[in-house]
Amino acid sequence: MKGLMKIARGPGNMELRDVDVPSPDRNEVLIEVAAAGICGSDVHIKHDTAFYTPPVILGHEYSGKVVEVGNDVQDIQVGDLVVSPATAYCGRCYHCKTGHMNRCTASDKKILGVSLANGAFAKYLTAPEYIIHKVPEGVSLEEAALAEPTACVVHGVTEKINICPGDTIVVQGPGTMGLISVQVAKAMGAGKVIVTGVSSDRWRLDIAERMGADVTIDVQTESDADSIIRDLTKGLGADVVIEASGACIACTQALRFVKVAGHICLIGVRGQPATIDLDPIIVKELTMTGTWGTLPSSWVTTLKLMETKKLSLSSLITHRIPLSDWEHGFDLMESQQAIKVLFTEL
Ligand SMILES: [Zn+2]
Ligand SMILES: [Zn+2]
Repeated sequence: MKGLMKIARGPGNMELRDVDVPSPDRNEVLIEVAAAGICGSDVHIKHDTAFYTPPVILGHEYSGKVVEVGNDVQDIQVGDLVVSPATAYCGRCYHCKTGHMNRCTASDKKILGVSLANGAFAKYLTAPEYIIHKVPEGVSLEEAALAEPTACVVHGVTEKINICPGDTIVVQGPGTMGLISVQVAKAMGAGKVIVTGVSSDRWRLDIAERMGADVTIDVQTESDADSIIRDLTKGLGADVVIEASGACIACTQALRFVKVAGHICLIGVRGQPATIDLDPIIVKELTMTGTWGTLPSSWVTTLKLMETKKLSLSSLITHRIPLSDWEHGFDLMESQQAIKVLFTEL
């Protein structure tokens, strides 16, 4: 089979290579990949600006069908349609033992498509049974390939902060994570969802509106986003701001958009220090929450939301391309012409 591999450290160093079909260990299943999405972190790995251990086949957002199971596999069967998180947590370290498997610190921890385990940019991959979830009935495999980024949003937006019915939410950044945040916030009963972006985001802000955003604001041309948000909230400010843009200036804006005693949830990674004034956190008594990866519970919630059609993830898929066209797929992501690019012929 062909696998899209990061072969060595440094920028570039990506190749579509011939590799053997893997065979599952005793506790693993062999999965035939149906669809695999390019994540922003895959782009970072391409440019050597994220953690990874080469050589490794990339791809951690995927869905597929089980075609073989190891001897000790008990609940997953050949033919099951499945998804999984990337991280095969150890279950033994302090963080795993205290229920924070997303922060597992085991040095031999496998992260599919990133470190010590090949990922889904290939026809087949193996994964341990204990991280696998079955795709609910009625959910397409293309949609299921978006379960991983959705579970990350679900962890941040439903497990790390409180959204109450009727709340006004500002989502900064209409990329994949922001657009999923809009839908998850609505599913949690948010009243108004306001999405902010920059001028080059106009087409993605339009998609945000089609996905249920009540108001979108281009913060570059609209001189006073603050007063628009105040007008929409009886002068109070947003109950919750979800920062999904990764832009440094968005942190400063978030402190202005949020109400007194409101919450800011940081999802977007900046990759550089942001200069912000901490005083509003004190004088407005704000909470600012980080979120990283997923817990098993995030996946259970995500799959329930998908099964009950509370999310419309397929509208995020802007491109379906064969793996052989991977360079085009990465170009689309890097030039921000795509929301989600799926490899559907592997
Ligand atoms: Zn990802
Ligand atoms: Zn651990």
